[in-house]
Amino acid sequence: MKFHSTRDKSRLYSLQEASVMGLAPDGGLFMPEYIPQINMSEVLKLAQYSFADMSSHIASLFFKDSITPLQVDEAIKKALSFEVPLVKAGPYYTLELFHGPTCAFKDVGASSMGQILGTILHNKGEKENKPLIILTATSGDTGSAVARGFYDIPGITVVVLFPNGKVSPLQECQMTALGKNIKALKVNGTFDDCQMLVKAIFNNREIRKQVNVTSANSINLLRWLPQSFYYFYAYAQWIAQEHSHLLKQFMAGEEAGLPEITFVVPSGNYGNISAGMLAKRMGLPVKGFIAAANSNDVFPKYLESGQYEPRPSVQTIANAMDVGAPSNFERIQSLFNNDYEAICREVKGYAYSDSQIKEAILELYREYGYTSCPHSATGYLATKEYLSECANSGMKADSNSIIWLSTASPAKFSEVIAPVTGQMPHIPGRLQELLDKDKEFTIMDVSTETLEEILRTLGE
Ligand SMILES: *Cc1c(COP(=O)(O)O)cnc(C)c1O
Repeated sequence: MKFHSTRDKSRLYSLQEASVMGLAPDGGLFMPEYIPQINMSEVLKLAQYSFADMSSHIASLFFKDSITPLQVDEAIKKALSFEVPLVKAGPYYTLELFHGPTCAFKDVGASSMGQILGTILHNKGEKENKPLIILTATSGDTGSAVARGFYDIPGITVVVLFPNGKVSPLQECQMTALGKNIKALKVNGTFDDCQMLVKAIFNNREIRKQVNVTSANSINLLRWLPQSFYYFYAYAQWIAQEHSHLLKQFMAGEEAGLPEITFVVPSGNYGNISAGMLAKRMGLPVKGFIAAANSNDVFPKYLESGQYEPRPSVQTIANAMDVGAPSNFERIQSLFNNDYEAICREVKGYAYSDSQIKEAILELYREYGYTSCPHSATGYLATKEYLSECANSGMKADSNSIIWLSTASPAKFSEVIAPVTGQMPHIPGRLQELLDKDKEFTIMDVSTETLEEILRTLGE
């Protein structure tokens, strides 16, 4: 399997090229050369063991030509050895994607990328040479998943920049308490300054000749692809709970059509939802997708009008979804061959204000005793809106065949949740431990020269 750009299918790239480049040279996003077809009975069987066992099988279809099948298995089992439970909040199903090391769904992509890229570099023997530096700027939440995903991987050093004093104590711990190959830089400036510094490095040919530097942002193929795995795992759990009889028949090899399901996905950059669309094309029985947005509603507007009009993002309480120009829009278009009508048949989109999100957090807590993070709460709102739209138009849809994805642990957003519910969310042990650990970081001013110097010291 090779990979190509969304803008040019003729030129093929290896997995290493695609993952180290991040963005294709023509500005497009990397896609698999072809979409492998999944054997559903194999996947449903493996899902009975664990998420990692099932994922390893799917991953091998994409990666087995780049690293050995045994290496795929080892990498994925290291990366994805956590639970991804399908739970019920009242009558609604939600897939909790936040039981990984940093309590957010981005752990799935970042950990898989760390392990697979680490394996590729190991095979090339590049750990003898200069380290590969992963340079990333974060406003708080996403940098921690990347730092954790690449933690202690030979041949790789992570440099993560964040604005000094502008991230929560917990977020800061997630980047500064790791140590080893994770270098945290606290920048005396804003998040935009951090991003500007990173861009300046990527645009500087001189420094890029001296040190091996790359990004690992969410559009990276190796972060995007593994997000398709949990859609299969959600389905496996759902069919076992809702249609156990059918599952038995199917597994016994009897003719039994598999029922379809609808996924609701809290969306910002649209990587998560587009990975679901990939899963459907691999053969997962999915009826359709619903994008749940905050006030950054470029995509729902596009579905309404056919016009794609990116604009500057606005700040909301679901801040990991504050994206005004979703990068993965191009992947969606590519998966649908730029067919707007086809997109509308398969995808719906709804957007919610901060006050609606807060009401949803309160409602979930009061009605069902379920605590949800602000991002995940948009998924709950979209689930209800879709169901009532179906009911109004006489279409069949019931809450038993919809799954909404929960993308982050409420523990990471206590400053939003506690004032709404009056209750502090429970902090999982693995986050609590970080708070007590020693912190390692460097404080720097907004200076490209300083950053260059740090990179040279680390990378030569
Ligand atoms: C990144 C993120 C999202 C948005 O995911 P996309 O793939 O960018 O659409 C939603 N919720 C949380 C908690 C996130 O961190």
